Amino acid sequence: MPKNTIGKVRTRFAPSPTGYLHVGGARTALYSYLYAKHTGGEYVLRVEDTDQVRSTEDALKMQVEDLLWLGLNWDEGPDPKTLKDLGSFAPYRQSQRLEIYKKYSDQILAQGKAFYCFCTDEDLERKRQKAMKEGRPPHYDGTCRKIDIETAKQKISRGEKGAVRFLVTHTHDVKFNDLIRGEVVFPPGMLGDFILLRSDGMPVYNFCCTIDDALMEITHVLRAEEHLSNTLRQLLIYEALGFEIPIFGHLSIILGADRQKLSKRHGDTSCHEYKEKGYLPEAIKNYIALLGWSSPKGQEIFTESELIEQFDLDRLNPAAAVFDEVKLKWVNAQYIRTMPHAELWQKLLPFFDGAGLKLPSDIEWQDKAIGLMKTSMETLVDAVELFRPLSLTELDLNDEGKEVLKWETSFKVITKWREKIEGCGKMYLSTAEFDAIINSVKDECNVKGKFLFMPTRVAIIGKPHGAELKQLVPLLSKDVLVARANRCLKI
Ligand code: GLU
Repeated sequence: MPKNTIGKVRTRFAPSPTGYLHVGGARTALYSYLYAKHTGGEYVLRVEDTDQVRSTEDALKMQVEDLLWLGLNWDEGPDPKTLKDLGSFAPYRQSQRLEIYKKYSDQILAQGKAFYCFCTDEDLERKRQKAMKEGRPPHYDGTCRKIDIETAKQKISRGEKGAVRFLVTHTHDVKFNDLIRGEVVFPPGMLGDFILLRSDGMPVYNFCCTIDDALMEITHVLRAEEHLSNTLRQLLIYEALGFEIPIFGHLSIILGADRQKLSKRHGDTSCHEYKEKGYLPEAIKNYIALLGWSSPKGQEIFTESELIEQFDLDRLNPAAAVFDEVKLKWVNAQYIRTMPHAELWQKLLPFFDGAGLKLPSDIEWQDKAIGLMKTSMETLVDAVELFRPLSLTELDLNDEGKEVLKWETSFKVITKWREKIEGCGKMYLSTAEFDAIINSVKDECNVKGKFLFMPTRVAIIGKPHGAELKQLVPLLSKDVLVARANRCLKI
């Protein structure tokens, strides 16, 4: 492991704040978090916001909110509430570290390992097109390599705009040992002289990332596979600046069910959307942990401390991971089933409120209702339809329900049903009592089949189909059942 001043593992998650946190980013954050916790190390949040066009403060807030929702709290980085930097390697926002990058750019220029480039975008585009036409790789052609540093500085002081390019001259293979992929070899000739600082003075991702990982004493860089080609550039920068190289692990690609790279085309890929669809953060975290890692015990459902205890880098899988919504739902359902009822109720409240449901505030009732309903839910959103018939709002009679009420025998059946519940001594019927009442309505009114079940169902939930009455009736108080029957009888 690379040495650092604390002698501990330091990992980081380094999002570019350009939108919500997506599944892939959440996995990188989770693995970085878990590995730091597993080893008693430190986990840093660094904000890679040098792309001033795409990075926004709102996106940063959204990412921070999603990370906190998942419980991936960082040891260092922007304070979750104020977003002010906390930690001894501050600032953690690259947009506030521009002087640092400038210093290293000057150093690399002075070493002759980089040069100023005055080519215009049009020049570069023309040369690129030409190279492609001639079947050459469209690398920078080296025009400005010959401008010596003093001449270049004079041009800059006269107001000319110059970018800083890394001088790519190596003729050896560049190699590193990836934690997940083993030895990775980049033969020479893969790169042209690449930009470190744009002509407007803004440093690019590869430059900032290398300097920050080095200065922030990061020991393990975990990130998505698509960054592999950046790692080549970063290794050259490490070498040029004489920084110690961290251990890299490039996490396997995540595919959708159609085996294409997971993207917006697949619908929900942001954690935020899953939150809105009623997924629990614990379930998302649990599921994402398994996208490229497996437990040595073959376990699939973990508490946070089990995950921390079992997570290690030797079980990261280089094969592509497939994001399977069905499995995610299953994991979510497992969490719903085992969550304490009172806690689950609190999580459901915003969904009930959002759907306009008014449910009893009695804690015992809530406990009983959750106990009866939780195995029918896979997401929190599922609870809305399950609980809708229990809402204390006025009975919502649908058209089919109204038709049933027109049947000759319906009035008689509902009147009898009301009479029976009124005569019952208890506030809530048990399933057995409900069955007994239905049987006596059947006998006393001499009706059966749909002429029995449909009107009672309409008198209870306002429609002749749907919800399991045996589950619902024990949750509806006698008063509510009588009021609902009365409403039907009035029609
Ligand atoms: N800002 C980069 C991204 O969001 C980070 C890549 C890295 O971890 O080095 O993809």
